[in-house]
Amino acid sequence: MTITRFPLARGIRFLSTPRVAVIGSGPSAFYTSLDILKYDIPVEIDMFEKRPCPFGLVRFGVAPDHPEVKSCQERFQDASKDKRFQFFGNVEIGKDIKLRELYENYDSIVFAYGSNKENRLNIAGEDHPAVINSKDFVGWYNGDPQDQDLNPPLDKVEEVTIIGNGNVAMDIVRVLLAPPEHWKDTDIVPGALETLQRSTVKKVTVSARRGFLDSKFANKEFRECLEMDKYGVRFTGWGADLFGDSLKTTKLGRIEKRRLQLAEKYCVAETEGKSWKLDYLKTPIGIKVDSKDPLLLKETIFKKNQITPAGKIEPTNKLASVSNQLLILCIGYKGEALAEFEELGIPFDVQRGAIPNKEGRVVGVEQTYCVGWIANGSRGSINSTVADSSVVAHSIVQDLDKLPQSKGHGREKVSKLLAERGVNVVDWSNWVKIDKAERQQGRKFTDFDSMLSVSNGPES
Ligand SMILES: Cc1cc2nc3c(=O)[nH]c(=O)nc-3n(C[C@H](O)[C@H](O)[C@H](O)COP(=O)(O)OP(=O)(O)OC[C@H]3O[C@@H](n4cnc5c(N)ncnc54)[C@H](O)[C@@H]3O)c2cc1C
Repeated sequence: MTITRFPLARGIRFLSTPRVAVIGSGPSAFYTSLDILKYDIPVEIDMFEKRPCPFGLVRFGVAPDHPEVKSCQERFQDASKDKRFQFFGNVEIGKDIKLRELYENYDSIVFAYGSNKENRLNIAGEDHPAVINSKDFVGWYNGDPQDQDLNPPLDKVEEVTIIGNGNVAMDIVRVLLAPPEHWKDTDIVPGALETLQRSTVKKVTVSARRGFLDSKFANKEFRECLEMDKYGVRFTGWGADLFGDSLKTTKLGRIEKRRLQLAEKYCVAETEGKSWKLDYLKTPIGIKVDSKDPLLLKETIFKKNQITPAGKIEPTNKLASVSNQLLILCIGYKGEALAEFEELGIPFDVQRGAIPNKEGRVVGVEQTYCVGWIANGSRGSINSTVADSSVVAHSIVQDLDKLPQSKGHGREKVSKLLAERGVNVVDWSNWVKIDKAERQQGRKFTDFDSMLSVSNGPES
């Protein structure tokens, strides 16, 4: 597919080629770059990615059985075909190139570096090895080199609790329970698949603080889990009795109605075989370790919550316990400020884990933009970044027009600095070599050294 060029917006004129630095190479970075490239303007867009491979969470987050979601990578190739665009892989901003150096050499800076940290429960026992963060677990089955030593003890456990009930939790339910044939022809990494083949996991409980109507998962992801019924993996409950008649008397929207229909359609009685269930109105307060095997858990202790007539969730004094040997925390990701933010006067909202902005323009800092999860606080699907990116791209192009003259030396200067510092840059042609090698071997690389060695080697 080629890029459709927009004519110049009325009144926009450029006295010299403006330079845009984009930090990150996930969907928000690519869609923003593609949207700027749609304008028929002279521009240099340089994209910096700390890993040797592009695409962020599309590669290391999206579930292997969602190839249709991953197909946006094909669309991202279009940027590389435009001479105005350049990819600098294996270049970490803040380490290999300072943020200050980007400001010295580019007219616009776009923060699209996603959310790196995982939220925590802040309860005792959370650091036990059998309490795993979803970020690490997801990275493990998706081949993120940073997570390949995770070794989740799936061959030693029968019961797993997942805390949090968003779409990532639904992905993990499928990974834990769907049989090996489900993963055939996907890009799940062989090491993870081998572990899953030995897995003894039988029961998965997905637990959440709030009620059924507040579930965070989308119906599509819910249905995908329910459809594991075809493999004999049963859905054994969603705590219907917790809600009494309230679900019948509440006026439900279309999406909620459908969610309820799906739950009712698939729900069966407890079974001996593989199964999963939804567990509501519980806040985890403690984790107990197995006295016989200290590397595993015995149970998770919860405080029960209730819904007030006004629809608020409040804690009760009642406790509940769920038997589990492994706990997976799936309570969302959090963005962090880059190290130089304070010194450069760039604001950061620690509470939200996001950069304060208005239509992508960072509040109080000129020529600075943010997009995707680092702008919105780690929520939203890839589709939502599409709409965001076009707004941000428009803001960038409008603001560039107000610049008297382009400053600095952009890619020329940055390439020189990287060469002086001996950084092994992966440009787009190098990435194409890595991608080709992965396709030929039929699996992803799970270590950075192999990627870099292919990147540095000859064309195959
Ligand atoms: C487990 C999981 C499954 C998901 N599944 C789906 C799905 O099925 N469908 C869907 O629509 N959405 C899904 N999403 C959501 C989707 O992944 C996000 O909406 C999207 O990836 C956000 O894009 P982003 O560009 O903001 O961030 P990211 O995709 O995280 O990209 C950020 C990039 O910045 C790079 N970076 C970070 N710091 C630096 C630095 N200092 N210098 C240079 N580079 C840096 C990172 O390496 C990364 O490549 C999923 C998310 C998760 C976590």
